[in-house]
This record gives sequence, C-alpha cells and structure tokens, in this order.
Amino acid sequence: MGIILDGKALANKLAENLKEKVKTLKNEGITPHFCVINIGDNPASKIYVHTKKRRAKKVGLIQDIYQLPTDTHQEQVLALIDKLNADQSINGIMVQLPAPKQINADELLERIDPNKDVDGLTPANIGRLWLEDHFVEPATPAGIIALLQHYNIPLVGKDVVIIGRSNIVGQPLAALMLEQNATVTIAHAKTKNLAALTKKADIIVSATGQAFLVTAEMVKDGAVIIDVGMNHVNGKLVGDVDFDAVKKKASYITPVPGGVGPLTVQSLMEAVVKLTRRQNDRK
Ligand code: NDP
Repeated sequence: MGIILDGKALANKLAENLKEKVKTLKNEGITPHFCVINIGDNPASKIYVHTKKRRAKKVGLIQDIYQLPTDTHQEQVLALIDKLNADQSINGIMVQLPAPKQINADELLERIDPNKDVDGLTPANIGRLWLEDHFVEPATPAGIIALLQHYNIPLVGKDVVIIGRSNIVGQPLAALMLEQNATVTIAHAKTKNLAALTKKADIIVSATGQAFLVTAEMVKDGAVIIDVGMNHVNGKLVGDVDFDAVKKKASYITPVPGGVGPLTVQSLMEAVVKLTRRQNDRK
C-alpha cells in the first residue's frame, strides 16, 4: 500500500519558513506585493485566485486582483501590464489562465517584465529554466520537486513519464527533472500506447485533466505516482489517477485534494518573495 505524499502538511510547514523570510523583508521596510490579472468569469480561475489571496495573506504578502470583464480587449490588458511593470511598488505579476478567446495569452505573457514574472512563463524565464538557471521556477513543477525531496525520493537515473506537455506543468517539470538526472519521457494526447510507457516508469506524473486516465494496470509495482489533475466528477474533486486502485501498487502517491495543489500555491508565494528580494538587492 502506497505512502500518501502529504502536500498540504508540507505546504503548511514551508509557509512557516516563508513567513520568517517575509518578516525579514518587512523589517527592511519591504512588503512583497504581487498582482493577479483575471479576465472573464471562469469559475475555476476565480477559486484559484481567491485561494492564492488567502495563502498570500497568511504568509504576509499583498495580493491585488485585477478582475477584468470577459469582453476586455487585448490592448487594455497590455496597457495594464505596462503600468504594473513600471510600478516600482509591484514585485510580481501573473495572468490567470485560461483567458477568453479574443485574448492572445502568449502576447500578454511576453509583455510581463521577466523580473516580475512570478509564474516563470515569459520566454526569457522559460529559456533560463532549460539552461538550469533557477531565476524563477513555475509553481507546480517547483512544488512537485519540493515534495519528492521532502520524502527523500531520488530522481537520479529514474525513468519518469510525465503525461501532459503544457507550459505550466509538463514542460518545465521535464526541465527540472532532467537537471536532476532523471530519464524523462513526456507523453501527450497523441502518444501511442501510453500504458506501454507508464508500465516501465519508476515515477509517473499525470497532468492532463482527464479523470481516471491512470489505472492500476498502467502502473508497475512500487512506482511513485504524482497526480496533478484537478477534475470535478459528480461534484467531487478528483485527480487523473484511479487513486484507490493505484494506491495498492504504488510505493508513494499524492492524494487529490491535498497533494500537489497546496504546494503549487506555496511555491507561487515563494516565487513572489524570491523576486522581491532580488529586486531590492539590486537597488
Ligand atoms: P492543459 O490542458 O494545458 O494540458 C493537458 C495536457 O494533457 C496536454 O498536453 C494534453 O495533450 C494532455 N492530455 C490530455 N488528454 C490526454 C490523454 N488522454 N492522454 C495523454 N495525454 C493527454 O492542462 P494543464 O497542464 O494546464 O493542466 C492539467 C491538469 O492539471 C488540469 O486538470 C489542471 O486543472 C491541473 N492543474 C493542477 C495544478 C495543481 O496545482 N494541482 C496546477 C496546474 C494544473 P496534447 O498537448 O496533445 O493536447
């Protein structure tokens, strides 16, 4: 029976350490301050934005929410980003995705000052990550690495299959795991015979948004299972993994909720503090 990787407990522990760092900054007269731009009324996005706000308050950060209507024009968002880039009192900026269809999200991300890019999604910071420069790490991959480290789960030489190739999870996680000398395969919706890959994997990370995609038959005995997915099934939040069945074969497994999610929010807060510290050290 797999050991449950308790992301919530680890996030709470890391939050205590972060509070100390924030206190040190505050003693220097600096309060980390970041902004979340949310366009439209995607219900999941609204929940994420408010979860972040609660967590930010808990560790002592200021988070502003710019809630823009669904029919907002691209130029209006670009102008807002320009204003926040120029504002010396703002340390971090992020755009909550997905955005409405008239919005070109890539252009928005490119416009964010890389020094304030808390999500690590600007081209400059994506490039840095692949060059093993940890200027800022995307929150979900950073949270997964923190979880593996906390439970002393090694990556060196391990066969990892990451299911999902998004710019916020699969791709940056592959960069971080490769850096730690894992052998990484990225699978996606066009992958032929996913089960043939996952059956050989020491570590499986699933980030697809497809409930029950990863079944017990796809997992080898003793594998480590990281479930990033967040899916609502019959009013209940579930991951991508058939948790009850897979837990019996896994050595370690993350629950949903209470696994990767809390660490994602914690890692975002850490990114805000890191960027704030760097901006002020440069002054
Ligand atoms: P995207 O929709 O951007 O990407 C999904 C990926 O999954 C794509 O690469 C897609 O392949 C792949 N995929 C979809 N279906 C299959 C399938 N049947 N077999 C193999 N691959 C498949 O999603 P995100 O990365 O933004 O998010 C993924 C999930 O993780 C969502 O449920 C999201 O809510 C959750 N999430 C959770 C976070 C947390 O903190 N816990 C943080 C971020 C996301 P292709 O590219 O070929 O289309």
